[in-house]
Amino acid sequence: MPNSKLENFPSNHSNDESLRVSVLSEALPYIQRFAGKRIVIKYGGAAMSNETLKNAVFRDIALLTSVGVQTIVIHGGGPEINQWLSKLGITAKFKNGLRVTDSQTMDIVEMVLIGRVNKQIVNGINNVGALAIGLSGIDGKLIEARPLGDGSHGLVGDVSSINPELLEPLLKKGYVPVISSVASTNDGRSHNINADTVAGEIAASIGAEKLILLTDTPGILKNKEDPKSLIRKLKLSEARRLIDQGIVNGGMTPKTQCCIRALAQGVSAAHIIDGRLPHALLLEVFTDEGIGTMVVNKG
Ligand code: ADP
Ligand code: MG
Repeated sequence: MPNSKLENFPSNHSNDESLRVSVLSEALPYIQRFAGKRIVIKYGGAAMSNETLKNAVFRDIALLTSVGVQTIVIHGGGPEINQWLSKLGITAKFKNGLRVTDSQTMDIVEMVLIGRVNKQIVNGINNVGALAIGLSGIDGKLIEARPLGDGSHGLVGDVSSINPELLEPLLKKGYVPVISSVASTNDGRSHNINADTVAGEIAASIGAEKLILLTDTPGILKNKEDPKSLIRKLKLSEARRLIDQGIVNGGMTPKTQCCIRALAQGVSAAHIIDGRLPHALLLEVFTDEGIGTMVVNKG
């Protein structure tokens, strides 16, 4: 059917239309390859900060779902948490230069992430025709947490284990699980976990084909001040070296680490891509070139 349409295409069609048709055609092998497969998306940073970009992300997720890709979204929401902390006059506490999350701050983290940011994403995805369902790590004990490091960050956690059974029936029915990065330790206390870390562990636990982290840089840069120094493809060993050398630092460290862990646990490819580009997700999944940095097991 699509071929006969192409043949009947008016000869004076605009470049725009030809481009659209060729983009669609280029997408075919990718659509076939990923139908029925799982893609985990960490949504955060720039792609979350503006309405146009938000809508583009929601539409991309709806498109992925409607061609049969089982999509899972993990989100953080640091900027929104900070806004609410300052509105409520709660000042950030630091110890040795690192933020400490006390129980008052954690209350706000839960309210903002699970109550507000999560529901905004669910609503946004529902509004463009897919069906999303909001969860946190607490629900169904999806994620069990342990205190991060020696516990001196307060209620900041690391992933202790994942119980992904809850996700299976949802994914089979075509729902998009939207998961906020809050989970309980075994004594029942909520902890905030870095959303990149959660995304990597969830991807590994459900046998995802791809892990995609949306952020506010073109990908991993050789020199973080120079957007042209993008590293397009990295082997696991090279990714580890970039962390050791300090070329990857700050917020890029948990991203790179979670790519490494996800690949080591069987995820085929992990991508760090620029969430400031509209439709970055579609560019990554459905085009030959892809975008951003791809971390792979072997060269
Ligand atoms: P997000 O909100 O998406 O989690 P983060 O701020 O936590 O974003 O992490 C992305 C940041 O990591 C970049 O804005 C950049 O400042 C920093 N970064 C550190 N090292 C690198 C690197 N080698 N390449 C790109 N970004 C880097
Ligand atoms: Mg971050």
